[in-house]
Amino acid sequence: MSDFTFIASVNAIRYTGADVLLVDSEPRTWNMDTEMLRDHVVRRATRGGRLPDIVEVVHALGHPADLEPLLELRERFGIRIVEDAAESLGAGWSGGPLSGRQTGTLGEFGCYSFNGNKIITTGAGGMITTDDPDDAARAKHLTTQAKVQASSYLHDDVGYNYRLSNLSAALGVAQLEQLPGRIHRKRQIARHYAEQLRELPLTLPPHAQWADPTFWLYSVLVDPSRSEPETVVARLAADGVEARLVWRPMHRQPPYATADRLNGSIADRLHDLGISLPSSAHLTTEQQRRVSAGLSAALTVPG
Ligand SMILES: *Cc1c(COP(=O)(O)O)cnc(C)c1O
Repeated sequence: MSDFTFIASVNAIRYTGADVLLVDSEPRTWNMDTEMLRDHVVRRATRGGRLPDIVEVVHALGHPADLEPLLELRERFGIRIVEDAAESLGAGWSGGPLSGRQTGTLGEFGCYSFNGNKIITTGAGGMITTDDPDDAARAKHLTTQAKVQASSYLHDDVGYNYRLSNLSAALGVAQLEQLPGRIHRKRQIARHYAEQLRELPLTLPPHAQWADPTFWLYSVLVDPSRSEPETVVARLAADGVEARLVWRPMHRQPPYATADRLNGSIADRLHDLGISLPSSAHLTTEQQRRVSAGLSAALTVPG
C-alpha cells in the first residue's frame, strides 16, 4: 500500500482484516517507490518469506505511479494489483511500454471516486472497474448486501450497501461529458502556475517523462531553509486564499502508526514541505494570478 495518500485508500484494506505494509514514495512521481517494493519482494521470495497477495497503488494528485515493477511482480509471483485512481481520472502514460494506457486500467481493479472534490462528481460515491466478468458480477453482488433473491430475502454472503444510487449515476453520466474539458482546464491551470511560480524558491509538481498527468491538485514544495508550509498557508488564508498542506502519510496517522513499512522519509518530506494550491477547473485566470501573487508575497515576507 502507498504510504502517501488519503486515508480512505488504506482503510479499505483494514476493513478486510488484511495486514498492511506501507511503501514510501519516490521523488520522480511522489507515488509509491515500486522499484523498492519489487526489490523487497524479490529478496523475501529468495528467502522463502511471506509475500503480499495484493499491491494497492495510489496515483496521487493526478500523476500516475510507475507501474512497470508491479507488472513484473504480478508476472513472477501472481501478486494482484489494485489501482486507486480516485485522484487521477484521465491521467495516463505518454511514453514507454504503457503508452496510451490510463490509470485504473492495468490492475485487476481500478477504483475511482466521484466525491465533490474530484475531477467529476456525483455528490458522493465512486466506481470500480475490472475486465474480469466474474469479478464484476461478484463486486456488483457485494454492493447490494449479497442479495440472491429479493422476494425471499436470501443473502449468501456478508455484503455492503456500497452501490451508487440511480440518481447519482445519472448525474455521473452527464459529468462524464465534462471530463475532457476539465482535464484540459487542469492542465492549463498547471501550465499557468508553472509560468507564474517559475522564479520562486519552490519545487513544482512532478511530471515524469513517460507520464501524462492531469494535475488534479496542483501541489508545490517549499525550500525548508526559507519557509515552512504552515506559515505560508496561514499567510495565504489571511489574504483570502485557501491552500492546504499535502497528505499526511499513513504512518503518521494513529490507526496506522504501528503498521509495517518500507521507509517513509520521502512521504514525510512531501507532507512537511508541501502546499496544495487552488486547482478547481472553475478557477478564473484572474483568481489564479491572485493566488500566485499571494504565494509570492507569502514566501518573501521575512520571518
Ligand atoms: C477521495 C479519495 C478516495 C476516497 O473516495 P471516496 O469517494 O470519498 O470514498 C480514495 N483514495 C484517494 C486517493 C482519494 O483521493
